[in-house]
Amino acid sequence: MYLEKLSLEGQTAVVTGAARGIGFAICEALAEAGSALVMTDIHADAVEDSAAALRKKGHSATALQLDVTDRDAVHRAASRIGDATDIDILVNNAGIAISNQPAETMSRDVWSKLIDVDLNGVFWCCQAFGVQMLQREKGAIVNIGSMSAKIVNRPQEQANYNASKAGVHHLTRSLAAEWAGRGLRVNTVAPTYIETEMNAYVYEDEDMHRHWIGGTPMQRMGRPDEVASVVHFLASDAASLMTGSEVLVDGGYCCW
Ligand code: NDP
Repeated sequence: MYLEKLSLEGQTAVVTGAARGIGFAICEALAEAGSALVMTDIHADAVEDSAAALRKKGHSATALQLDVTDRDAVHRAASRIGDATDIDILVNNAGIAISNQPAETMSRDVWSKLIDVDLNGVFWCCQAFGVQMLQREKGAIVNIGSMSAKIVNRPQEQANYNASKAGVHHLTRSLAAEWAGRGLRVNTVAPTYIETEMNAYVYEDEDMHRHWIGGTPMQRMGRPDEVASVVHFLASDAASLMTGSEVLVDGGYCCW
């Protein structure tokens, strides 16, 4: 009974920012649990390559170019996918970081671009795919937030990123409360520093690397698969009583 709850057999999941990094690992985890995947990313070729890699392993994966900041495109995609199949799971993973931006000199563009992708994009996808799920009164949404919603990272200044992720966490609670009585669950996963291309620059900066690792009780960064496993759990029936939760996947970072 307990293992069965983790099965996603017969379900369909939509994942944003799926071409690489955490998004791709999430697709691998959901696919291994039996879900068909609709993998979306702003980069058409890259997401097609990633979907092809999963198909090669025998999984069902289709690719779709989608910019989460384009509200109309997101709604069109949700209708089109919803017409073709029932959408059971949505993972809002697409995100960017624009760090080392002192607040007092941050430009309008840097502030707005970050909020547009990391917060507005999550809302447009929740709204558009949420409509499809509400029609069936069934669905699990997992938003990728960050420990940056809880703490202020050091040493890099990134008020834009931190504020956007705090917004994602409270958006999650708001939608969870609105939709709990209509069959939808909405949760957030809040990772620590994960070894992806988003963080590749840290290896060239000894001081920053020392801050990040030194501030983590487990003394290491995380791997994409360690985030993906938690997303899988939250998307599955094993988490049937969970909604509005934020699950820290942070190697203990927020303990200190
Ligand atoms: P990556 O940059 O490795 O992958 C994200 C993918 O999303 C890229 O292909 C990226 O394209 C794409 N993307 C960017 N903008 C959009 C858009 N507007 N619409 C659709 N796709 C887009 O990121 P990570 O795997 O590292 O991060 C994934 C998520 O996890 C993000 O939300 C991030 O904030 C969060 N997170 C990451 C942590 C980390 O340490 N890596 C820690 C905590 C949270 P492009 O290459 O052009 O940007």
